[in-house]
Amino acid sequence: MPGPSVDTMTTTASPTARPLRAALSPSRAADFKQCPLLYRFRVIDRIEGPPSPAAARGTLVHAALERLFDLPAAERSPEAAVGLLRPEWERLVREEPELATLIAGDAVPTDGSEIADGAGVDEATWFGDAEALVRRWFTLEDPTCLEPAERELYVEADVDGLTLRGYVDRLDVAPDGRVRVVDYKTGRAPSELFEGKALFQMKFYALVLWRSRGVMPTLLQLVYLGDGQIVRYAPDEADLRALERNVAAVWQAIRRAAETGDWRPRTSRLCDWCDFRDLCPEWGGTPPPLPDNARALAVDPSAAGEPEVAQD
Ligand code: SF4
Repeated sequence: MPGPSVDTMTTTASPTARPLRAALSPSRAADFKQCPLLYRFRVIDRIEGPPSPAAARGTLVHAALERLFDLPAAERSPEAAVGLLRPEWERLVREEPELATLIAGDAVPTDGSEIADGAGVDEATWFGDAEALVRRWFTLEDPTCLEPAERELYVEADVDGLTLRGYVDRLDVAPDGRVRVVDYKTGRAPSELFEGKALFQMKFYALVLWRSRGVMPTLLQLVYLGDGQIVRYAPDEADLRALERNVAAVWQAIRRAAETGDWRPRTSRLCDWCDFRDLCPEWGGTPPPLPDNARALAVDPSAAGEPEVAQD
């Protein structure tokens, strides 16, 4: 006899079964669009990619740029922003101690064990790179002239029973009500291969804001600190309606895969950057067995009882 559909079943992952809460972030939607198996590894198998110094540096730079706006406008200088890097790093390491193992200067284990092979980059170089990214931002934007309405804003909207959600780095609201969504990227502006993914994420946020607040953002702005470029995009209603249809189609495909267990790999040039090649049958690997509650996890990542959405 077939089991309950993902529309009706309740999860048994926790002692108190509850209705599923269908939810999707732009990163996970983009994962599924790229490759259903990639989505499965991240959402169902909950396999983390290896921690990377570059990702940690991105988190640190985002944190420093966010904190900078705590200062009065006149004090938001490059030196002040650079001065936030060490304290923000210490705070991040307190929250996630394993981050320390990525940086050689912080990587001396206290239990006498050896540092893992390959772990730890040179601390001075790593902080120097973070400083360069922060300083480059000042060539692109002037924080003494900005008063963000929101920073690190969690946004969500219910669209036909599906919760769309994510984190927006910065939201600027002009006196006349125009809204600008700003996202910092610590890499370089993407080639055509990746540009669609970055814009998908920004349009996704625009859709969520439009549906939750009734206001369509005027401008989506991607700030690439790696090479000092800004990509701007002005969405319109037709754009966001098309995106909404696209997200609905992705969601239907995820639900179908959840029902059938068919999370087939889809190879592309992006496989070169995939964290899961060792587990991918297309590259000679073997995925782990699907967990018992795979169907629940596929549509409601919080079914595992862990945080519902990570910052992108
Ligand atoms: S290596 Fe390619 S095909 Fe395999 S899971 Fe990753 S993205 Fe998908």
